[in-house]
Amino acid sequence: MSAKTLKACRSCKALVSKEVQQCPICNGTTFSDEWEGMVILLSEKSELAETIGESKPWRYAINVK
Ligand SMILES: [Zn+2]
Repeated sequence: MSAKTLKACRSCKALVSKEVQQCPICNGTTFSDEWEGMVILLSEKSELAETIGESKPWRYAINVK
């Protein structure tokens, strides 16, 4: 999957494909095409989940501009 086909939710930084109208993680509807970095959260109980403040396994942007 190319990063250019993804956009990032402004609320929770979840990365979704550009066709998506509503964030599957937080139900937000505002997205940004300007984002950097990607982390993939595999488990709700990981240290990474605590670090980035998200709990649902998903792919997230590190920086959303
Ligand atoms: Zn979201």
